[in-house]
Amino acid sequence: MSSELQAELQTAVERRRNFAIISHPDAGKTTLTEKLLLYGGAIHEAGSVKARRAQRHATSDWMAMEQQRGISITSTVLQFAYRSCQINLLDTPGHQDFSEDTYRTLAAADNAVMLIDAAKGLEPQTRKLFEVCRMRSLPIFTFINKLDRPGQSPLELMDEIEKELGMQTYAVNYPIGMGDRFKGVFDRGTRKIHLFERSEHGKREAVNTVIDVGDPDIETLLEQDLYYQFKDELEMIEELGSELDLDAVHAGEMTPIFFGSAMTNFGVELFLNSFLDYALKPGIHESTQGEISPTHPDFSGFVFKLQANMDPKHRDRVAFVRVCSGKFEKDMTVSHARSGKTVRLSRPQKLFAQDREVIEEAYPGDVIGLNNPGVFAIGDTIYSGQKLEYEGIPCFSPEMFAFLRNPNPSKFKQFRKGVSELREEGAVQIMYSADEAKRDPILAAVGQLQFEVVQFRLQNEYGVETLLDHLPYTVARWVDGGWDALHKVGRIFNTLVVKDSWERPVLLFRNEWNCQQLEGDHPELKLNKIAPVVS
Ligand code: GDP
Repeated sequence: MSSELQAELQTAVERRRNFAIISHPDAGKTTLTEKLLLYGGAIHEAGSVKARRAQRHATSDWMAMEQQRGISITSTVLQFAYRSCQINLLDTPGHQDFSEDTYRTLAAADNAVMLIDAAKGLEPQTRKLFEVCRMRSLPIFTFINKLDRPGQSPLELMDEIEKELGMQTYAVNYPIGMGDRFKGVFDRGTRKIHLFERSEHGKREAVNTVIDVGDPDIETLLEQDLYYQFKDELEMIEELGSELDLDAVHAGEMTPIFFGSAMTNFGVELFLNSFLDYALKPGIHESTQGEISPTHPDFSGFVFKLQANMDPKHRDRVAFVRVCSGKFEKDMTVSHARSGKTVRLSRPQKLFAQDREVIEEAYPGDVIGLNNPGVFAIGDTIYSGQKLEYEGIPCFSPEMFAFLRNPNPSKFKQFRKGVSELREEGAVQIMYSADEAKRDPILAAVGQLQFEVVQFRLQNEYGVETLLDHLPYTVARWVDGGWDALHKVGRIFNTLVVKDSWERPVLLFRNEWNCQQLEGDHPELKLNKIAPVVS
């Protein structure tokens, strides 16, 4: 390969950091994102998150649904520059709009930032997303937010993470006081205290007043009791806690912890600086050709998300591709591994909410949006040069189930086509009862929104009105060894046996307890939360 291209790829990879934020609703993800962009001087104005919230132009029927509900279904990528780095923030949809896309986005991320509300500690959605990060061994950086409000003690919060998530913690900085008496944070690297000052809602970059631990006025500045409490706690974590071990961080075994207050913009810059130093750069990806380095001269990437109808003028779909190796150039021709077809990648897009901007080039760690005339499915690999395929994206354990009924027999064809296309696109998982007499598809989703999207789109795009019959199950498990393994066990109770789109058996349980009971009764039966990838 030309040494110029090699050098160009090397530089691009060195500069890139890619991450997704995992959090529970209301922890402050939108606020933190805004503050990060404030420091980053976002490359693209439309990336402004508030602006995105405020100006919801109805751009399609699809968007109309977003507008009605006041939520954002569209996951986007925000790209911004900071120091000499280019940062890609993969925006995970994460509220009432929780769906499988939230999980899939993590498949395209190199790092995760776990955002925690100091008053609430670990919350359910954070735990679920954490599990997916763990599965991929993603490095996790923790930002404990809302220190300007009363919350749990820093030691309690760290302890909770260690015990419940099984990760070691390393406090990169440590807070002094909290709530009305929040004084600032001590940065362990520089051994300086950054004083907290209440600015009017953190519109500007925070004023950064820094003092030495040896400052003669420290006891007055911090108030004596808080100062001594802080000294004690710091001594404790420095004596008993682990050292920062970047290998462990990169393996997802240790999480660096930062304290701050996104709303008042405090601690965000400290976080960003360390994050750039410690985060993983775009790395190697496993493929059918072995490990592929990002600086491999041939372009390759995989589809991690499909989005329909973002633009009413083109009733098309956009495939989001994570670039894994080589350089992407507009109008390049690539091969599509699954079909063996050649595809010209014209009109590639960077995606910022509803705005589209054509991109000329992209590098490993970047995400591009491609028009998808029905070619791409979730998990597909595209490449130039030697044929390769990346491991697909797994099916995540759904938690809600419903029969989808078509009450109008004359719409049978459209119904079938719609269900099949929406499944392929990854809008929802489709299962069928093992009982042949029950032929209606079962929608299996991780969030309620997925049901609504499917019904809405079947009506709008395929002209089929449908009915939902909710099923009382909340837990799904794939059976290792398939039907043979299941049949060996004989009759089982408190379970509905269904099959997924690849005819594999899946057991549905009303609750975790029923599932554990079966596992207890039949230890030989191996049950998986996540479906093996179909290749
Ligand atoms: P998201 O649901 O995770 O995107 O959370 P938002 O960013 O919308 O924040 C939820 C609420 O928490 C909003 O009312 C924010 O103003 C508030 N909030 C976010 N960060 C902070 C913070 O650092 N301190 C305080 N006091 N409130 C915050």
